[in-house]
Amino acid sequence: DERIVLGDEQNVDQWQYSLRPKKFMEYIGQDKVKENLSIFVQAALSRGEALDHVLLYGPPGLGKTTLAAIIANELGVNFRVTSGPAIERAGDLAALLTNLGEKDVLFIDEIHRLSRNVEEVLYSAMEDFALDIIIGKGPSARSIRLDIAPFTLIGATTKAGALAAPLRDRFGVISRLEYYEPDALVHIIKRAAEILEIAIEDRGAIEIARRSRGTPRIANRLLKRVRDFAQITADGIITDDIADKALVMLEVDKMGLDHTDRMLLNAMIHKFAGGPVGLDTIAAAISEETDTIEDVYEPYLLQLGFINRTPRGRVATIAAYEHLNIPYPKD
Ligand code: ADP
Repeated sequence: DERIVLGDEQNVDQWQYSLRPKKFMEYIGQDKVKENLSIFVQAALSRGEALDHVLLYGPPGLGKTTLAAIIANELGVNFRVTSGPAIERAGDLAALLTNLGEKDVLFIDEIHRLSRNVEEVLYSAMEDFALDIIIGKGPSARSIRLDIAPFTLIGATTKAGALAAPLRDRFGVISRLEYYEPDALVHIIKRAAEILEIAIEDRGAIEIARRSRGTPRIANRLLKRVRDFAQITADGIITDDIADKALVMLEVDKMGLDHTDRMLLNAMIHKFAGGPVGLDTIAAAISEETDTIEDVYEPYLLQLGFINRTPRGRVATIAAYEHLNIPYPKD
């Protein structure tokens, strides 16, 4: 089945690259975060210093990588990208850090997945711009300190809570990205349509925006799928009617829920009497990864008020029953 919410990143990335805004001015929405960051960037520039380390957190696809690239661009420095799971050993990180130029930006996606010993090397790098390296083994082992150029670390994570406190404390700026309002998504969709030369009516953009679960990456992805539909079944112009038909075909409902979201809610309601039920149990019931549910599906269902978190597990709310047209049990 077609995965709308998750999708295949390898394929989309190239295509999405051209859609990535390059300046704060082109970055739509997240006004508060953007305003703060642009002030910090200007201040760092005027002092001629590296920007303080920045932690960006929020669900996938909200624009963390994009924002990090914009920061580097506005600072006029190089942008180096890596991710927590890609840095396997402390030596990998040391190699990355010693290759950075003065004031460069190093972006570490999924920073909550760094291994413990890599994380420890990062502490002194962030704080003192120095690496403590152990040379030799056993009783003759000694530690030497290596200076590196001042740099800016931008970390991204879906869950700030998963970060060890000593790491979190070393970020001077911590910003949380929020789901986008439909208006902002309409802007993003129209901008993408212009870049990709897709004909779209305002009402078509509104229809896609409403069903993009507050997420630019999904909005862009749906736009592309709806375009295919418009070209094959109509004259290529995306109207609200075409958008609706295409999204129904893609099993994206009026609230932007996809097949997996509905399967999850249905499992909670039918197999576990609406909960409370643990995340692992739900994950097993629908053969999905616990992490994926926690990072990707659950945040939006919580935001919609379709599920609640309780100490004993997740509970489906009355709104979820109503959305799925299932009578809510009286007791
Ligand atoms: P994240 O790193 O949070 O997973 P990305 O930065 O990769 O998200 O964003 C996903 C896509 O959404 C980008 O390729 C970009 O095209 C688009 N996008 C994200 N935020 C915005 C924005 N504020 N304005 C316009 N496009 C955006």
